[in-house]
Amino acid sequence: MTIMNIRQNVSLKEHSSMRLGGEASYCADITSRDDLKQAIVWAYDNKQPVVMIGGGNNIIWRDEGFKGLLLVNKVMGYEAFNEDSENLYLTLGAGENWDSVVRRSVEAGASGIEALSLIPGTVGATPVQNVGAYGQDISQTLVSIEAYDISRGEFITIPTEDCKLSYRSSRFNTVDRGRFAIMGLTLHLIKNDPTPPFYPSLQAYLDEHGINRFTPAIIRSAVIDIRTSKLPDPAIVANNGSFFANPVIEKSQLSVLMEQCPSIPHWQQDDDRIKLSAAWLVAQAGFNDCHDSVTGMATWARQPLVIVNEHAKKTADLLVFKQKIVDAVKQRFDVILVQEPELLP
Ligand SMILES: Cc1cc2nc3c(=O)[nH]c(=O)nc-3n(C[C@H](O)[C@H](O)[C@H](O)COP(=O)(O)OP(=O)(O)OC[C@H]3O[C@@H](n4cnc5c(N)ncnc54)[C@H](O)[C@@H]3O)c2cc1C
Repeated sequence: MTIMNIRQNVSLKEHSSMRLGGEASYCADITSRDDLKQAIVWAYDNKQPVVMIGGGNNIIWRDEGFKGLLLVNKVMGYEAFNEDSENLYLTLGAGENWDSVVRRSVEAGASGIEALSLIPGTVGATPVQNVGAYGQDISQTLVSIEAYDISRGEFITIPTEDCKLSYRSSRFNTVDRGRFAIMGLTLHLIKNDPTPPFYPSLQAYLDEHGINRFTPAIIRSAVIDIRTSKLPDPAIVANNGSFFANPVIEKSQLSVLMEQCPSIPHWQQDDDRIKLSAAWLVAQAGFNDCHDSVTGMATWARQPLVIVNEHAKKTADLLVFKQKIVDAVKQRFDVILVQEPELLP
């Protein structure tokens, strides 16, 4: 890569599925380790901070923009190894489209990521918030990550157990936020059919459609059907998917909430704490199919957890609308909703 490949004053709307935000001073596509090394040297010489992103599906950019070098990961690669009748290992470039990888693995008869079908974005972003859906998350199949440690200036391999993966969280979006440029992943998939019990809403779909034979392809097709029926396509409707994570509360707080709303949906976690449905809380707080003419933001009619940008011009509008929801839920249930998409920089 030469400095000629670094573009200036790039609109960040093109790098967020919410299509809001200012400009990045500089932006470069990264297709190889060499690209990355040269971009890092350039940023160091020119005293510019760097941020690496994929498809921008989990990012909200501030209106002020990013005064630094935006690195867009476009490292390709899909390699199967150690494949036998039971196992499939994959080494993947971080810039590969995630759903294409799921499709290819399902076509190879492997299971482990089929329930993560249609999650928009790149391979490299999946460990950042430990992407999950319908009872699967990336922690279950991830073997290791290839990354460049920006703080130490070296390429390293990080095994899964060192990634601190938990619900919507990892070291990459907490203690080591911004430290690593993820260049690739290795996954271990199993050549077996998926087995019940399935996630409740997936099981309900299977029951409703009389499906009682389960292959990776059947589960992928069911998940795609469920997702397309309730989630907007970010290529058409500006959104970041679920805007809030499901809150996790103490048992004692649940008892208080149940006095007020005996039907509150909840799930006990392994650590004895209780997960609530953020979608239910948002709807109960009065934001079901809500269209806010002041900010130009709305909640999606078929899934109130998805905030969509109908005609907002600024990230500030989104933040005002979001705060209205957070305040209403706090006031009604004394629960604080935590935003899922990352506000950058
Ligand atoms: C309609 C819709 C539905 C969604 N459904 C789900 C869902 O079911 N489950 C779920 O978990 N998420 C879901 N999401 C969120 C999103 O798809 C995931 O978080 C996805 O992994 C984002 O990929 P991306 O490439 O767009 O990442 P980006 O938005 O570009 O980046 C997300 C974060 O990861 C960092 N990052 C990205 N790539 C790299 C890299 N190579 N190296 C270092 N850091 C990197 C960025 O700096 C940023 O912090 C949904 C989003 C939408 C729009």
